[in-house]
Amino acid sequence: ASRFRGGARPRAPNSMEDCCVVCAEPLTFVAYGPCGHRDACVECVARLRLVMEDKRCVICQRESDVVFVTRAMGDYTETIPAERFDGLRRRADDGELERDAVLGMFFDDRATCAKIRELRGLRCRACGDASAEHGSLKALRAHLREAHGLHHCEVCLEGRKVFVSQQLLYTKQQLDKHKYGGVADKDNAFGRDGFTGHPSCKFCKKFFYDEGQIFHHMQSAHETCHLCRRARPDAYVYYRDYDELERHHRKEHHACLHPDCLAKKFIVFVSANELKNHEGVEHGHAMTKAERKEALRLNDLGFTVGASGGGGGGGVP
Ligand SMILES: [Zn+2]
Ligand SMILES: [Zn+2]
Ligand SMILES: [Zn+2]
Ligand SMILES: [Zn+2]
Ligand SMILES: [Zn+2]
Ligand SMILES: [Zn+2]
Ligand SMILES: [Zn+2]
Repeated sequence: ASRFRGGARPRAPNSMEDCCVVCAEPLTFVAYGPCGHRDACVECVARLRLVMEDKRCVICQRESDVVFVTRAMGDYTETIPAERFDGLRRRADDGELERDAVLGMFFDDRATCAKIRELRGLRCRACGDASAEHGSLKALRAHLREAHGLHHCEVCLEGRKVFVSQQLLYTKQQLDKHKYGGVADKDNAFGRDGFTGHPSCKFCKKFFYDEGQIFHHMQSAHETCHLCRRARPDAYVYYRDYDELERHHRKEHHACLHPDCLAKKFIVFVSANELKNHEGVEHGHAMTKAERKEALRLNDLGFTVGASGGGGGGGVP
């Protein structure tokens, strides 16, 4: 029972408008757990809990299965002590509070509960308010496609951490424009200017949500040349896999062709002198022209280094 419901919102004198620490919008309804940190708005907490599967408080990181939602009124915001969170379920059973069981949220305001349920729901926006909830995202997408010719961008569905109801809908043509860019996305899917399409990996033919995600992919799934990177730190050149990188090493730099080093990988030098030096130290002598030729020939024939097993002979102790 909120003391001030319906009345004017009392404010502590001189207090600045409180804002959500996540989205920075003015707080109207807050959601908090037993830790009592009333700093994030109900939409952000709901999004964290459902879309990010994160039930931690944004301030103290304490996880909570249930949170309480109430109107933000500065110092007058209804405060529930930690020990009374256990009683929320009973209060909901008694009809005193609204409950969203999926989110583990308890509301003292019916309209806010309905609003959040709508936000996290799988209703078809094109069909309007009276439309039924779809049982799964797959079912909703099939309906959108068949009934309205509308599509979600699957890259955004995965990478843009908002509710499905907040994801944008595109016709096939708009979707291509959105994904491939060229024409700046008029709807500005990211809330940022100049979106020119999702970046894609030319090797995998796969789209990524943003620069951060494709960078992570390129770094983990593909190879870069450490020598080129050292020479030009801000040029990012990638090779599909190690085989491709190794061809680059041999062509552009001075790679050691000794079977041990080929197996170890990444043994490559900027100059012929450095390579000679390495060969002397590691292998006892610099490889002769004939030896290099033979090593290259065997390698190019597809004798995978290290696969031949025992008794190669001639190894330097
Ligand atoms: Zn927020
Ligand atoms: Zn907290
Ligand atoms: Zn529809
Ligand atoms: Zn997209
Ligand atoms: Zn890739
Ligand atoms: Zn290189
Ligand atoms: Zn070597």
